[in-house]
Amino acid sequence: MDTSPELKALAELIRSARCCTALTGAGVSTLSGIRDFRGKNGLYTEFDADKIFDIEYFRRDPSYYYNAARTLFYTLDEIQPSIVHIGLARMEQSGLLEGIITQNIDLLHQKAGSRRVVEIHGSPSLHYCLNCMDGCSPEDFDADDAVRGNPAVMGFSEAAAIVRAGDMPRCGICGSVLKPGITFFGEALPAKALKNAEGLARKSDLMLVLGTSLTVYPAAFLPEYTLRDGGDIVLVNNMVTPMDSRAILRFDDLETVFSFLTSEAG
Ligand SMILES: [Zn+2]
Repeated sequence: MDTSPELKALAELIRSARCCTALTGAGVSTLSGIRDFRGKNGLYTEFDADKIFDIEYFRRDPSYYYNAARTLFYTLDEIQPSIVHIGLARMEQSGLLEGIITQNIDLLHQKAGSRRVVEIHGSPSLHYCLNCMDGCSPEDFDADDAVRGNPAVMGFSEAAAIVRAGDMPRCGICGSVLKPGITFFGEALPAKALKNAEGLARKSDLMLVLGTSLTVYPAAFLPEYTLRDGGDIVLVNNMVTPMDSRAILRFDDLETVFSFLTSEAG
């Protein structure tokens, strides 16, 4: 076990923080074996990035998305949360973590048991009809009753079973193919999630920035809010980020850091 002074300093920062949050990106998901998009074996080597998550393309041909995403999110039953997902869930349970802001769209934080998860790129937890729910944001109908009572909305598990069987989920009212609540290119980011993320970032006196290169808006801005209000950021990832010089601590390897934090917590 690496017990470098930096790791001990990190544990102390977390213990003494008044409000600690985590911002997570693709690096956290790839630890669970989820394929990334842009890496060497990424999804985009096999599928066209301009089509998979493009709203106009989805309207014309939703099968392109569903074919690409079938093995990416719709097999989540087989994918286990990583040591980072589990570690963060435990920190929340112990009162050491206020919440998680994530760029990921794989529901693994929730699967690990985290309760406060702000999904700034939307979520596949709901699929909905673009036709019947026109003008609604998926955030407006995320209550369980909406799913149960509304044939134009479907929960993740039901949609996943249909997609795994090689089909596409359809609206119970008009028969159109349902769209996942993930934010596609050409769509507005989820407004409530953004507001909640900004609120959490401002409130944080410590933000753990995990597995994100901080190059994509809005994630790139969030640590800025924490720093501006006098908080500290800690970076853990294997990439250079634009905020490296502004972090109080910086680590390369997520697994090393979370093995240490998990053993510290007993
Ligand atoms: Zn419909």
